[in-house]
Amino acid sequence: MLGIRRLLLTCRPGFRLQHTAIAVKNEPILEFKQGSSERQALKEALNEQKGQTLEVPCVIGGESVWTNEIQYQLCPFNHSHKVAKFCYADKDLINKAINAALSAHREWDLKPVEDRAQIFFKAADLISGSRRAELLARTMIGQGKTVIQAEIDAAAELIDFFRFNAKHALELQHEQPISEPPSTNSTLYRSLEGFVAAVSPFNFTAIGGNLAGAPALMGNVVVWKPSDTAMAASYTVYKILLEAGLPPNVIQFVPSDGPLFGETITESEHLAGINFTGSVPTFKHLWKLVSKKLDKYRTFPRLSGECGGKNFHFVHKSADIGSVVNGTIRSAFEYGGQKCSACSRMYVPDSLWPEIKKNLLEEQKKIKVGNPVDDFETFFSAVIDNKSFARIKKWIEHAQSSPNLTIISGGKYDDKIGYFVEPSIIETKDPQDPIMKEEIFGPIVTVYVYPETEYQEILHLIDTSTPYGLTGSVFAQDKNVIAEASKILRYSAGNFYINDKSTGSVVAQQPFGGARISGTNDKAGGPHYILRWTSPQSVKETHVPLTKWRYPYMD
Ligand code: NAD
Repeated sequence: MLGIRRLLLTCRPGFRLQHTAIAVKNEPILEFKQGSSERQALKEALNEQKGQTLEVPCVIGGESVWTNEIQYQLCPFNHSHKVAKFCYADKDLINKAINAALSAHREWDLKPVEDRAQIFFKAADLISGSRRAELLARTMIGQGKTVIQAEIDAAAELIDFFRFNAKHALELQHEQPISEPPSTNSTLYRSLEGFVAAVSPFNFTAIGGNLAGAPALMGNVVVWKPSDTAMAASYTVYKILLEAGLPPNVIQFVPSDGPLFGETITESEHLAGINFTGSVPTFKHLWKLVSKKLDKYRTFPRLSGECGGKNFHFVHKSADIGSVVNGTIRSAFEYGGQKCSACSRMYVPDSLWPEIKKNLLEEQKKIKVGNPVDDFETFFSAVIDNKSFARIKKWIEHAQSSPNLTIISGGKYDDKIGYFVEPSIIETKDPQDPIMKEEIFGPIVTVYVYPETEYQEILHLIDTSTPYGLTGSVFAQDKNVIAEASKILRYSAGNFYINDKSTGSVVAQQPFGGARISGTNDKAGGPHYILRWTSPQSVKETHVPLTKWRYPYMD
């Protein structure tokens, strides 16, 4: 990030800035081939963390604090291993965190954006370098990710979030209004007034860092509630931010019971925003709490929520079968289908189904589900916890008992050692079965086979049969069909793919988010995301005295 300092700008009222783009590139994804130095470093970190329990305190007002409410994060693929010991903050402690954050607000908000950006560039450099292996190992052991899934999340995506957000924050200073003599105008990009609560999900280490980090970059103070099942990796990210120079009070690290945290932060008159990623019911609950308590607040809290999906692969008769099969295996089963963008419903024309089915079943058999630390050939591991396992089991039981559904491969599960579920492919006779409408968040994909000539009806069905709008893919070589599908499916996906799988968005390349009940579509990873975390002030300064109050026409 050398050279960034030289590009930094001064923003004074009346001074029109020249636009200077700041060059930032996506972090290269390392391959971890046999004999590589990154593989060696990762193996060492995994060995070091094997069987270890990381102690994770609440960090409030710069102090580590323990309460009596001790909790454990368990390793998903070996639940006898306690990955982290942590404690829940009680109501008083959450309030203490809010006050500690508020006490730091003014100084942090007034700090030049260049200084704030430097901290995030530095944190990105640390993750890219000396702290990479440690963070990857925490994500693999704690959240059950394979090498590549940990690398694209905890390294590449998090680094990209920090660097690109910092770039966008710096470039935003150039967005200034026009000035007409005798006045000069300018825009100051203030933070929101109050504190931002960041509430993060288990499934991406990067998302936790971004939910807390992006508002902080924009001058906000943040009270971060990490996910219980991503605790070790979240704490590591927090420590890296401190090491990079983040002042201790800017982000409070507050593990807590979700409902208690939600109740407590929404009681504060200083709540200025909630930056949430997780399930639809939790976000709706938070939104309702805020609306119920609206009269309390000094400002309208900004609510940003990225939620679930019921992501589709639509296959046209002109599709390339290899792309369909390989793309579906990756999208539906990587990280055990625990990506908000995972393909969960698929629509295949009857003419192609025999071949696609044969290939899907052949490939499914080759998938290794297991321990991603001891065996690097593992394609995906156990699902995150017992609650998730129980929910997925219910869907398999539903498939077993429903006359509309046939499990054509997989369908077994076992939670003796870890929460393992086989990659499962289900065929449905009914495109309106609940399995085609509701989020599952596990390694299950359901296929509806349609009469090839009825593809237009199917496109309308895809658009209307779920309330979600997160991601989806169209596989077709016929350009007219692609154009037609793009129009019909315009609102069905915030991230829309053509001849590619529905997962794998990259920061700054495919800014991410969906609308409908999938969220507020703020496009994390894009240039507009940081605008959610600023409350601009327009400043007009007039340089000549006002000599009269009457207008000329009055004379
Ligand atoms: P979740 O809703 O169970 O939990 C998310 C966070 O909310 C956790 O930190 C949890 O402790 C907290 N929480 C729970 N109840 C709360 C309450 N009443 N008040 C305040 N906080 C509360 O979600 P999860 O299981 O961690 O994550 C999976 C979900 O996240 C899936 O639905 C997935 O689609 C979604 N997700 C979406 C995106 C996206 O960008 N759209 C990305 C990742 C995950």
